[in-house]
Amino acid sequence: MSDTLVLNADGMPVSVLPLSTITWQESIKYMVLEKADVLLWHENWIVRSARWETQVPSVIMLRDYMKVKNSIRFSRNNVYIRDNGQCQYCGSHIERKDATLDHVTPIAKGGKTTWENCTTACSPCNATKSDKAGWKPRLKPYKPDYYDLVNKRKKFPFQVRNQDWLQFIV
Ligand SMILES: [Zn+2]
Repeated sequence: MSDTLVLNADGMPVSVLPLSTITWQESIKYMVLEKADVLLWHENWIVRSARWETQVPSVIMLRDYMKVKNSIRFSRNNVYIRDNGQCQYCGSHIERKDATLDHVTPIAKGGKTTWENCTTACSPCNATKSDKAGWKPRLKPYKPDYYDLVNKRKKFPFQVRNQDWLQFIV
């Protein structure tokens, strides 16, 4: 899903949470339909059909402004951002890839997978917690609003497919 970065007509990414990206096939469709201009190409990536060949766009900018709904999806990664990348039990900073999603009220006891019942935990805490009652996360889990989360996200480096994209994002 992350071949091509999509910028809105104002030059900003259409969305940052998650980052607005599309497949290379979609990016070529935008280009052929003249709905977007290509700002950057993928070097050394050319696709061919029987009748044409083209370089693959790396960054495109829409010609018409796309209105966006500023809503955020529940995901492990967004919970991680809400929780400042910290284990909510021991307080240690954890890498995104090592973070686990902990259900404050376990699923087995009727807990749901929601913003209000999920928190970030390191694996040792997550493993220990399951047999200890009464562990409470430091930050009471809540549903963040878009700007809250976008602000918190600024503390983390963007993980992008191409370093070239950073100039359009930050
Ligand atoms: Zn921990």
